[in-house]
Amino acid sequence: MLLIFGTRIRQIKAKNEGGRLNCSHCKSNGTVAILARFKYFHILWIPIFAYGLKRITCCTHCKQFRYTSEIPQGELMRINKIEFKIPLKYYSGSGFFMLIFANLIFTIFILN
Ligand SMILES: [Zn+2]
Repeated sequence: MLLIFGTRIRQIKAKNEGGRLNCSHCKSNGTVAILARFKYFHILWIPIFAYGLKRITCCTHCKQFRYTSEIPQGELMRINKIEFKIPLKYYSGSGFFMLIFANLIFTIFILN
């Protein structure tokens, strides 16, 4: 049986960023967007579950990416207040497999 599985990375924007930050690299004002990256596990390209959400910043002017460990403490406190919600579609596969499992249990124990 051929079973293709693995992990992929997706990036999401915050719905309400609470204002953009200033870039310390190119000294532009208000050009740093706050984003989040997460990984999801998939089987046959159907997302099963998401994990490992990490906040990052990206300057729209100089394209500099900064990960959590590279962000100064003052900015990091502001960034950590922003909530990111992983879309439900990245958990759709686990719901699908639970339905199959429930159907299997129903078939074995209820119908016999
Ligand atoms: Zn910049």
